[in-house]
Amino acid sequence: MSKRSTLLLAGLAALAATPAAAQEKPGFKDTPTLPGGNWHVHDSDRPAPDVVTPAARPGGAPSDAIVLFDGRSLDAWTAQRKAWPVEGGVLTVPSRASSGGENALITRQSFGDVQLHLEFRSPTPPTKNSQDRGNSGIWFMQRYEIQILDGYQNPTYADGTVGAVYGWKPPLANASRKPGAWQSYDIVFERPRFAADGKLLRPAYITAFLNGVLVQNHQAMLGTTIWRKVASYEAHADALPIQLQDHDSPVSFRNIWVRPLPERAIAQDLPGEGK
Ligand code: MG
Repeated sequence: MSKRSTLLLAGLAALAATPAAAQEKPGFKDTPTLPGGNWHVHDSDRPAPDVVTPAARPGGAPSDAIVLFDGRSLDAWTAQRKAWPVEGGVLTVPSRASSGGENALITRQSFGDVQLHLEFRSPTPPTKNSQDRGNSGIWFMQRYEIQILDGYQNPTYADGTVGAVYGWKPPLANASRKPGAWQSYDIVFERPRFAADGKLLRPAYITAFLNGVLVQNHQAMLGTTIWRKVASYEAHADALPIQLQDHDSPVSFRNIWVRPLPERAIAQDLPGEGK
């Protein structure tokens, strides 16, 4: 063995013998304590975030996502009446006539707080107007709808256009692409919190980007989506399915994934602030 190799081995052995606790952690312990009292500024003991490997292409599912539709399998879903057809990697709402009635698509798995990505395409050429043109929707917990509609040069009531919290908040902008073009939704949904007696403690919140444009910014939701009435809350489970709406319009979907969010993802007031 060469002298150089011997030195290298000795160095490696010394490193291996060093207790983990004795190894220097990046960060500080002599800095002021942050509000909440748990950590110092730049605390050396504060856990590093989990590693998530992003997708190779924008919009792709990151390593910790649950893929709901990858262009092939509908295993993650059940239908109200019959399975939606998949053709060429694309999922499309079937006609009411072929389904025999309203036929929503419902995830088999239940979710609470989630990040969701989905791509949709409005039918072309458009055949109808207003709410009958490319209407669908993402119903979190089968209750709280963010609207899908062909919003391109299609006048309708503002709280019912694409990007709206249906029946409550119009989108901050109309970022629609033309019918026939693929469009992306990136959404963070925070479920409502209820007390044991059913009282609402915290409403649902939604943040949404349509085609990369902010359309809802941590918007409190009014309650269970309802047509022509004021929404209100009714207590429910902490996790429920996500539903894609059948509004008798052949809207297509691809690339659907979710990331269930941990409790620490929920926005908190500063200590001593808020309720
Ligand atoms: Mg709808």
